[in-house]
Amino acid sequence: MTLHTPPPQDTCADRLAAIRAAVAEACRSAGRDPASVTLVAASKTVEPERLAEAIAAGQTIFGENRVQEGVAKWPALREAHPGLELHLIGPLQSNKARDAVALFDVIQSVDRPSLCAALAKEIARQGRAPRCYVQVNIGREPQKGGVMPDAADALIAEARDRHCLDIVGLMCIPPVDVDPRPFFEELAAMAARNGLAGLSMGMSADFAEAIACGATHVRVGSAIFGARPAPAAG
Ligand SMILES: *Cc1c(COP(=O)(O)O)cnc(C)c1O
Repeated sequence: MTLHTPPPQDTCADRLAAIRAAVAEACRSAGRDPASVTLVAASKTVEPERLAEAIAAGQTIFGENRVQEGVAKWPALREAHPGLELHLIGPLQSNKARDAVALFDVIQSVDRPSLCAALAKEIARQGRAPRCYVQVNIGREPQKGGVMPDAADALIAEARDRHCLDIVGLMCIPPVDVDPRPFFEELAAMAARNGLAGLSMGMSADFAEAIACGATHVRVGSAIFGARPAPAAG
């Protein structure tokens, strides 16, 4: 996978401007309105000081992978910068549904009936209803989260009809090191047949391809914030 590690002298604002320009260019090549694609800044492992730089550069929409990291980083930033929108883009355990519903505006990782039930319960309890995406394991990879493609239509129906979740789209992370386009196309077809407008797909290395395939939300991390530290072993 290509990591677009920027030269160290580049500021967060420079990188954001470059990504916004690249998103707009991908839209133009695809014959799409640049306003139809939303940039979600994937900010896992990024410290509050650098998040504040991105906010100062005009970024308002962020995606976190872990509920606890989000709870630790975002309430203070939100207090200081009203109008931010937070997405949960990582796996969600049902026992974290309470914190997730309280913090996030959008939950992109709905992938099983038990989680739908846990979210519905918290939404009723808190009177706060995040918009939701169903995450699809589009490459049918055993190690990845997401509902299997064959079970996706049924889960979407159950999430909407039985649990009354506000399902606005689908999300996927395609396999690495292969052409992502067939996977993006499959997700787009699945969204269309379920009447869902939102398509969260595309990361630093493949957001242009995702936009060509209809992405409405691209989740870009390392191209904005630089390469992440390798996760600690163990
Ligand atoms: C980390 C992450 C991203 C961003 O990945 P980059 O390659 O750094 O752009 C996007 N989506 C999810 C779900 C992620 O975990």
